[in-house]
Amino acid sequence: MAEPSSNGVSLADKAKDMIEEVLPTRSKKQEKKDKKAAEKAVKKEQYAKDENVAPKKASKPVSTEAAVERDPDAMFKEGWLDEVRKERPAKDVCTRFPPEPNGYLHIGHSKAIAVNFGFARYHGGKCYLRFDDTNPEKEEEKFFTAIQDIITWLGFKPYKITYSSDNFDRLYDLAEKLIQRDGAYMCECNDEQIKDQRGGIDEKNKHPRYACKHRDRPVEESLAEFRAMRDGKYKPKEAFLRMKQDDFKTGNPQMWDLAAYRIIDEPAHHRTGKRWRIYPTYDFTHCLCDSFEGITHSLCTVEFINSRESYEWLCDTVEVYKPMQREYGRLNLTGTIMSKRKIARLVKEGKVFDWDDPRLYTLVALRRRGVPPGAILSFINELGVTTARTNIQTIRFESSVRKYLEMTVPRLMVIIDPIKVIIDNLPEDHEEEVENAFGPKNVDMGSHTLPFTRTIYIERDDFREVASKDFFRLAPGASVGLLKVTHPITCTSFQKDDATGQVTEIHATYDKPVEGETFKKPKSYIHWVAESSKHNSPIRVEARVFNSLFKSENPEAVEPDFMADIREDSLTVYPNAVAEVGLTEIQRRAPWPEQAGETKNGTEDAHGEVKKPGPESVRFQAMRVGYFCVDRETTSENIILNRIVGLKEDAGKAA
Ligand SMILES: [Zn+2]
Repeated sequence: MAEPSSNGVSLADKAKDMIEEVLPTRSKKQEKKDKKAAEKAVKKEQYAKDENVAPKKASKPVSTEAAVERDPDAMFKEGWLDEVRKERPAKDVCTRFPPEPNGYLHIGHSKAIAVNFGFARYHGGKCYLRFDDTNPEKEEEKFFTAIQDIITWLGFKPYKITYSSDNFDRLYDLAEKLIQRDGAYMCECNDEQIKDQRGGIDEKNKHPRYACKHRDRPVEESLAEFRAMRDGKYKPKEAFLRMKQDDFKTGNPQMWDLAAYRIIDEPAHHRTGKRWRIYPTYDFTHCLCDSFEGITHSLCTVEFINSRESYEWLCDTVEVYKPMQREYGRLNLTGTIMSKRKIARLVKEGKVFDWDDPRLYTLVALRRRGVPPGAILSFINELGVTTARTNIQTIRFESSVRKYLEMTVPRLMVIIDPIKVIIDNLPEDHEEEVENAFGPKNVDMGSHTLPFTRTIYIERDDFREVASKDFFRLAPGASVGLLKVTHPITCTSFQKDDATGQVTEIHATYDKPVEGETFKKPKSYIHWVAESSKHNSPIRVEARVFNSLFKSENPEAVEPDFMADIREDSLTVYPNAVAEVGLTEIQRRAPWPEQAGETKNGTEDAHGEVKKPGPESVRFQAMRVGYFCVDRETTSENIILNRIVGLKEDAGKAA
């Protein structure tokens, strides 16, 4: 199945493939559109086979203690990464994270970041951030910046930021050396011919793989033509340098004479300008740059396992230091999509705000949504690293984030869909100060005071127009406790807007017993926010509640395509939400707690520039509602909150 991605012909095809992933993958290009349906079926089947995907009942409840106590370095101490270390116990561990600067990183890449940067950090070594910038057609400045920002946010600092293009001269020299050793030849075959040389698979045109007529060219001729190609003799696709890898014995397509250099005329390279019109391919560049940088452990995903042979072949043939490439299973989230092309379509068709829409699983989106960097690292660590592909449901990711937030962020009360309650038996100027602890039980995070007055707001959901035995919150004649308030309230009447049918105002009494008497303890307590001009309460906010963007666990298998799987209710905006005054203190104290790349004084990036934490570092639990953060669109007049995760699992998703 696996088709080598760079065979010379399909450079354009390869480029298309590359759009899919920031990190180059061996992923196959669908040869024909009519195969699409068949592929979908395979996908469905594969999906069912993948071990972790079978819809488990929610996520296993892990005790919060376990979540907190888990050793954050466990993934390096045991299992696959420990074995890799033992296999090559180099003293000075050196790794690299090598993204192509042609897209936003997604959750899957956070594993590559955690593995490469974390492994180096754990062993006291260094990790390079190397931009694999060998295709000027795809690269954009904004991606260089976005990738660096995300790495800093995750709390890692590259030892150095390098570019494959730093080595263009050296790579060119090695290409000449390779030719001189009869390890490469100039090929002038076209796409069609090269495809045919790879051997026919379909019945109509079945034949074995064969060499092209250029393969036996004299070394001197290839060298002269290579120089001529460099100097502009050929147009793009007219010729390319091809590695002479095997003697037609191996079944590994990564050894089928891959392309080493190709012509790319336009646009100018962002670093080397117009100096070059030939560029090395990924297969030629990656292993040699690893070698130049003295990488000890070149850690990549299993999709590259076939590349290990070509990687080692090239290092050996040009006689340079050979790093050790090892492959781990990639992390894939089900119930969402990661494909750049597909996300681009969602953005273009207005199904999401942008690439950082909190419903997406790009890292910029998770960041904006308020997922703490520490929660992402903790999730990766929890999963551990093996060679198996890990398919994880988004709900399991959310459950991990929820656990993390539960033990770390402060709490306060927010009413997302408020109804006004007037407590008639309290005087107009009644103003009582109530203590609300920021931390959960047994966790001392201090507390704040908030006013309790005659006019309060409660959640629309906490009121019913008719009392019933199975409803323990507010209803006519029924009483309910208010969190942190000494006595309960009882509803006496309510008003409705005739036009909308909505309840607009509730009247209640405060059930303070006369001396000597006691009231029954209420069956349940609800959250509330009071009106008080003295305390500038409430704080008016807009709350955005996000749900899963897709209905199913496998949107890509839905007919006619994933767009049909979009949920209509993936975003609910509550424009009239109100928060209690504790929000101001939480904003002031954020990031609370400090973690990974979120510290009060900012985090220094690889350029020595200090990156201040963003608005999303203001996070809290809105008691009984969910976890929220401040959105980046917040202004001084309009505070916007994003729901990070609910307090419980999202029930709207079909298994
Ligand atoms: Zn040829």
